[in-house]
Parts: sequence; C-alpha cells; structure tokens
Amino acid sequence: MPVSRGDMPKIVTRSFGVDGSNTIEGATARGAYSRVDKALAMTPAAVTDEVKKSNLRGRGGAGFPTGLKWTFIPKGSSTVYLVINADESEPGTCKDREILFWDPHLLIEGILLASYALGCHHAYIYIRGEMMREHQVLARAVADAYAKGWLGRDRPCAGGTFKIDVTVHRGAGAYICGEETALLNSLEGQRGWPRLKPPFPAVKGVWGKPTIVNNVETIANLPAIIEHGGEWFAGLGTPRSGGTRILCVSGHVAKPGVYELPMGITLREVIYDVCGGIPGGRALKGVIPGGSSMPILDPSEIDVPMEFDALMTDARIKPVQVRPGVNFDLGGGKQLRTMAGSGGVIVMDETTDMARVCWRVMKFYAHESCGQCTPCREGTGWLERITRRLAAGEGRPGDVELCESIAAGIAGNTICPLGDAAAWPMLAFATKFRGELQSKIKEANGVAKVPAATVAG
Ligand code: SF4
Repeated sequence: MPVSRGDMPKIVTRSFGVDGSNTIEGATARGAYSRVDKALAMTPAAVTDEVKKSNLRGRGGAGFPTGLKWTFIPKGSSTVYLVINADESEPGTCKDREILFWDPHLLIEGILLASYALGCHHAYIYIRGEMMREHQVLARAVADAYAKGWLGRDRPCAGGTFKIDVTVHRGAGAYICGEETALLNSLEGQRGWPRLKPPFPAVKGVWGKPTIVNNVETIANLPAIIEHGGEWFAGLGTPRSGGTRILCVSGHVAKPGVYELPMGITLREVIYDVCGGIPGGRALKGVIPGGSSMPILDPSEIDVPMEFDALMTDARIKPVQVRPGVNFDLGGGKQLRTMAGSGGVIVMDETTDMARVCWRVMKFYAHESCGQCTPCREGTGWLERITRRLAAGEGRPGDVELCESIAAGIAGNTICPLGDAAAWPMLAFATKFRGELQSKIKEANGVAKVPAATVAG
C-alpha cells in the first residue's frame, strides 16, 4: 500500500531546499520568531505543560519525553543552562546537519522558547567540529538574531523582560562528545570523558549548574508546538509519541535522503514506497533502523512502525540473544529487540557481506571508545580484532561465541552508552546472521579467502 502522507505537515523540514531560508530575512518571511510573543504571554510553567501535552520525545536517540525532562530541574534553581547537542555523529544519521543548514532560525527560536520555560538565560549550541558549512551558517544566524534583538543581555527579547545569550561552541570531532556528559566536559574545556551518573545534568550539569541537554531536532519542533498547541502536535503522532519523525535513509535504496515522515510509518513503507525500493530488484538482506548502534533487523521484521515504543517492544521483532536460546534482558524483564535511535536507517541488499558490516561497526566503536572504563576499552578492541578476522575469512572456531561473550560483558557494565552501542549490534549480528558469521571460520572453509592484513576499511 502506498503511504498516505496527504495532510501530514512538514514541521522541521519545511524550509529544506528553499533558497534564502537560512538568512534572517528569509526565515522571518517564513514565520521565524512569530511564536515568541505568544510564549512570553504564557507563564514558563504553561509553556512546559504545552510541551508535555505534545508528547514530544527526544530525537537524539533515547526518545525520553522532553517536557518531563525539563521538570527535573530542581525548583528554585537560580542558574539554569540549556545545551543543544548538535554533535551529530552516529553513523547513518545526518538530519540535524540539514536543520542547521536550512533553518538555523527555527532552532534559535526553539531555544528562546525552551529557555523561557526553563528560566535559562544562557544557552549553548555544541556543534560537531566537522560541520564547517553548518557552523558558518549557524554563526551568521546567531549574529543576525543578536542584531535584530532576539538575543542579547542588553536587549530584552520581543520587547519583554526575558533576556538570553546563545554561544556556539565547536567540538573537535570526537564521537563520544555526543554523549551528553562528555559534551558538558568538553564545553567546559576539559577532556571529553563521560561523567558518572547520578548526578544527572538536570541537577549538576555544565559549570556544576542544572542543565538541560536537548537535541537539535527536538528543539526545532517547539515553535510548531507553541503555535498550534501541544494537543495538535500529539495528534500528529502515535498515542505515546507526538509529531513526525525525520529519517535519514542510506544504503541500497533508489532514493536515499532525509525525510520527514509520519511517526507510525513502517520500515517497509520507508524502504519500498518512500525510497523507491532496492535498485535492480535485489532482495533486502538487513536494515539498521536508527544509526549503527541499534540492533539490525532482518527482512521478516520490517512491518513494524518506526515509532519509539514499537521498535523496542513489537513482538514481530525477534529478541536479540546473548547466546543461542537466551534473550538479552534489558532489565525488568524487558527484552532487547531494537530501538528508534537517531533515525539513521541503513539498508543492505542481498549482496552485502554481513561479516564485513559487523566488523566495520565494531571498528568504529573501538576507535571512538574514550578508554575510560575497562569493559568498553578492552572489549571493543577485541570485538574489532575478532570480527576483522571473520570478515577476512580467517575466523577461528568459537569466534562467534567469543564475540557474544565479550559483548555480554560490555553491555550494561560501562560508564556511558558507547559500550552498549558496540555490544548490542554485535549480539544482533550474531543472532540474525549467525550462519554467515560462522561461514567465515577458516577451518570451516578450508582456506582463508582474503588475508586479514589486506582487508581495508
Ligand atoms: Fe568511555 Fe566506553 Fe566507558 Fe563510555 S563506555 S566512558 S566511551 S570507555
């Protein structure tokens, strides 16, 4: 069935591809900053209530309810910070980059609204160092917003009493700085190492003060929520996830790209209707639904909605196993299936060598591990080495089981989620493509196909 997207509004991507939309003149002509007066006429608590009603959930990966997160700021806090996580680095994900380029004023307007609700007077945008083009556009947009009086300590916003500064801070290109506490350390000028939690940033964040860290896409949804109301936004989505979803689809599809889609769209519809299917009529072999840290799905599992809860709990997705016959328990009896993650959908057709993909994923996380805790530092290194020899057809008997054992030792035993980000996909590859990994064991094949030393990244 073709996807019916008839009246589904574009909330965050409406200016994508529109010339001049990222200038303050172009953005203002398209309604930028028109929601600020409405928000300032409300109480901060009423703005937060509207966001809670909207069922907006964080778009950075965890899918945590945004309005609820805001309420974790201790009451009576005299200094509160808002930090925008624009350190988008998850392989397969490129949506925030597009928002920053095409509609930076939508983000700045969202920052104004969130800051008012939070009682924040200084917000930071931490942007990935490699995003040169986007940084230039964003820096220009912030300077223009200052010049027009939307930002600045000396010029109350929209003629009211609310004042806000925004600082753009460039990262230095470390994936781990996308983890919120590593980001805060980096922002403070320290090594980008994740912090132990608790305390959570809402209690003790940047400069030791209560801090909310929100993703770019999350904040870019706020102007529409204030304009149309939380109930309207909630009504666009599914019962527990309001609004639309941006998916970045890459790999073996006819029309890869960044798409804003209904929250309840299925993965099958995304691949075959929105993205035109797999070139050459080839068969689907596997698909990663939310960035490379999310467990892979096989072709029998693509009829689930691309919604936060469904991807975690839908019984049509097989549980990931710690070893054959034993499902991975996330705690509380909840089994690991997959997650929505950051919206990076990576499609692989029947020609794909899954052992090689698994190795490339492990190589990435081994390289990006900050080395602070032993299970991740040592475990990701071993997963990379073992999957490298599997990819080269030089696997040893027991390698798949060894990978499972190492991954199980990492998962849930590290300071930050990067450990899980390596362990979960490893276990999923071993669950869904076990036979293919086993076929790479040298003794099973007789002779190695390719010497390990010649396998290039
Ligand atoms: Fe660093 Fe990995 Fe530990 Fe995270 S899990 S703190 S990346 S060593």
